[in-house]
Amino acid sequence: MDYVIEVPKQVSLPVQGSAQHFPVARIFCVGRNYAEHAREMGHDPNREPPFFFMKPATAIVAGDGEFPYPSLSQDVHHELELVVALGKGGRQIAEADALSHVYGYAVGLDMTRRDLQGEAKKMGRPWDTGKAFDFSAPCSAIVPASSIGHPSKGAVVLEVNGEIRQRGDLQDLIWNIPETIAYLSTLFCLMPGDLIYSGTPAGVGPVKPGDVMKGSVEGVGHLLTKVV
Ligand code: MN
Repeated sequence: MDYVIEVPKQVSLPVQGSAQHFPVARIFCVGRNYAEHAREMGHDPNREPPFFFMKPATAIVAGDGEFPYPSLSQDVHHELELVVALGKGGRQIAEADALSHVYGYAVGLDMTRRDLQGEAKKMGRPWDTGKAFDFSAPCSAIVPASSIGHPSKGAVVLEVNGEIRQRGDLQDLIWNIPETIAYLSTLFCLMPGDLIYSGTPAGVGPVKPGDVMKGSVEGVGHLLTKVV
């Protein structure tokens, strides 16, 4: 095929223990998936159906690296999350079959312009400028499920400059990973390469240039991101 402009590069993530890469298709994010975080954002953590927003694949910062502080915001927040990487797609995926669609897992940051997101919420506008901006999705290497299994409990911890800011546990997800995949697949035909940011525990807060964020998900790995 001959194209009139240069073909955009395929965004990818390294795969731990391999020379091969994981190609990123789309990034789905689950909103308010830990009760404590729902409460800190002023919401009732009752088990309403999950809701989703998206980021473009181009928002990925692959592996440890730098997060450039974005323009037009004075309140940029960290949200540390377990990331699910799909190796198989499909629609109407059954909960019992959902984990067989997972290639692996990663540690990710759903960076958020909280001021712009707040304004959008107030005005009934979309969240894209608050959530889907450039470099808003730092993500570690993908760790294959074939080597770690499917974590359903374990600490999710974010330190900023050595001080713990967020702490949660995967077993406190309101919608667990099989439920999330099954629900999402009723809304979209999922594709191999899709990532799901599964939601963040309580403790979200602002960062500033110079801060070093160290995120970890027990049983999965670490992510080190510097705000520049
Ligand atoms: Mn999030």
